[in-house]
Amino acid sequence: MSLVKSRTREARSVSREAEDIFLASEMVELGARLQVLQAETELSYDRLARLYREIRGSSPPKGMLPFSVDWYMTWLPNIHSSLFYSIYQYLDTHTPVKKTKALIEAYRLYLEQAALGQGPVSADDAVLSFTRAWMLLRFFDSSMVQLSHCVHCHGGFVAYAHDPRQDYVCAICKPPPRAGKTRKAKAATV
Ligand SMILES: [Zn+2]
Repeated sequence: MSLVKSRTREARSVSREAEDIFLASEMVELGARLQVLQAETELSYDRLARLYREIRGSSPPKGMLPFSVDWYMTWLPNIHSSLFYSIYQYLDTHTPVKKTKALIEAYRLYLEQAALGQGPVSADDAVLSFTRAWMLLRFFDSSMVQLSHCVHCHGGFVAYAHDPRQDYVCAICKPPPRAGKTRKAKAATV
């Protein structure tokens, strides 16, 4: 390999590393778990753990990531996940922002939207955590979920993959039956 070529490669890897550190720091601030940082950057586990401790002042939480698709289908999480995903999809389709940067940007915009009407929402108390937002994109990539459009409001909502898309009614247009119906159903069986 020529010297010039190896220098260029070296410069590229240094700038890639700098960008990874920058992205990792942004994700830590938004509450990302270590597994997310490992998947999105090429930094080592030790460096990421150190970065995490520096920014958050505590060790990264251990344990598995939340991996259930069902969570995204429950009422409030579904509305928040759908909001996040529509922002992400817009950025990905209509702007040059892609991949990890699109995820970070979309999550920030989601937090802004979630804050409307109830004051600022921090990443730590948002309904949809950064890690769950990241998982959601993975579920879309692996075709475990799909976007279905509501026949009433025409909004796009996160739904199980392969569920029929015709006649789909979203969580906002059709809130869950909740307590009332359950009580009635119980009374009927007594
Ligand atoms: Zn609707």
